[in-house]
Amino acid sequence: MKFNTKTIHAGQEPEPTSGAVMPPIFQTSTYAQEAPNVHHGYEYARVSNPTRTALEKLIAGLEGASDCAAFASGCAAMDAMVKMFRPGDHIIASNDLYGGTYRLFTQVFEPYRITFSFIDMSDPANVEKALTGNTKMVWIETPTNPLLRIVDIKAVSDIARKAGVLSVIDNTFASPYLQNPLKLGADAVVHSTTKYLGGHSDIIGGAICTSHPDIIENMRFQVKTTGAVPGPMDCYLTLRGIKTLHVRMDRACTNAQAIVEYLTNNTDVGSVNYPGLESHPHHHVARSQMNDYGAMVSFTLKDDSVENAKKFMSCTRYFTLAESLGGVESLISHPASMTHASIPADIRKKAGLSDSLIRLSVGIEDVEDLISDLDQAFKSV
Ligand SMILES: *Cc1c(COP(=O)(O)O)cnc(C)c1O
Repeated sequence: MKFNTKTIHAGQEPEPTSGAVMPPIFQTSTYAQEAPNVHHGYEYARVSNPTRTALEKLIAGLEGASDCAAFASGCAAMDAMVKMFRPGDHIIASNDLYGGTYRLFTQVFEPYRITFSFIDMSDPANVEKALTGNTKMVWIETPTNPLLRIVDIKAVSDIARKAGVLSVIDNTFASPYLQNPLKLGADAVVHSTTKYLGGHSDIIGGAICTSHPDIIENMRFQVKTTGAVPGPMDCYLTLRGIKTLHVRMDRACTNAQAIVEYLTNNTDVGSVNYPGLESHPHHHVARSQMNDYGAMVSFTLKDDSVENAKKFMSCTRYFTLAESLGGVESLISHPASMTHASIPADIRKKAGLSDSLIRLSVGIEDVEDLISDLDQAFKSV
């Protein structure tokens, strides 16, 4: 089965009692048993739910994983992943990563004595240097948020494997349509399904995909035991969203490319971050590991000040000023005060994230309207 067919059919069967083509929303907390422990495979909805099972099979199919565990949010999925480790264990992560991930690692897990090194992973040699005898996992985000740097998944996964360390990729920004880390040697993939997979800015969800039976068993144990489960309605909406993933991504990437071209030719723009640009320092890595360059773009104004950037963001009409990304609608945001506010200012600066950076999540509207929206915002600053 090829990818576009998978988004519609992977793991999906018509519902056996009625023939419903879409999996029903099984809005139930428990399931009748014929005799104690004699049942249809479902006992209690914290453990499993058929709508959730359909979603998990679909996402596993898209990532080429043997299994997937769905969570109540991307953060819940990441939380479960780190809980595989114990005090004294060490994790290497990139220094340009989602603010909520940084907050989870440093404010929840460091107090439990799991230690982290945040490094520039765009040079894989830095991973090798950061390895210690206690390193258990390398946490990769690529493209990175919000600077759109690229990490060489295969190179870093190879280093991790040789050191006996797990490599885990947050694949939220690319989605499985653009990038399949497991095929490049990664051990597990984490998603915030809130973003491109759901695709319509109407749910919060997360997922972990892997072909390692011990990891999936651990994830299912945690779902059952700690209870960060997605509700059946949210699973249904995510499943429905995924069925158009390939169509939405194609349009969003095409729109993003047109917007990048517009920005790079605009004399009011300072710098533009987009892995599809040939001038991007890791364009060649992006070209080899991604099917397209995505629909996230970040840039600075030539007249680079926080005030100007904030003014620009308040002037757009179709680009809604909001956190999040990956929906059909275009969004604009100010990472320094929004998604990345939980990263201390000096650490943001060290990672190259300026307080005047503007981030776009390009949607699937008519690109002429999006460009004229940006145009009027440039004129208003
Ligand atoms: C949004 C996001 C998360 C967190 O996911 P939630 O669903 O909001 O909990 C993690 N990683 C990345 C890259 C994200 O964009």
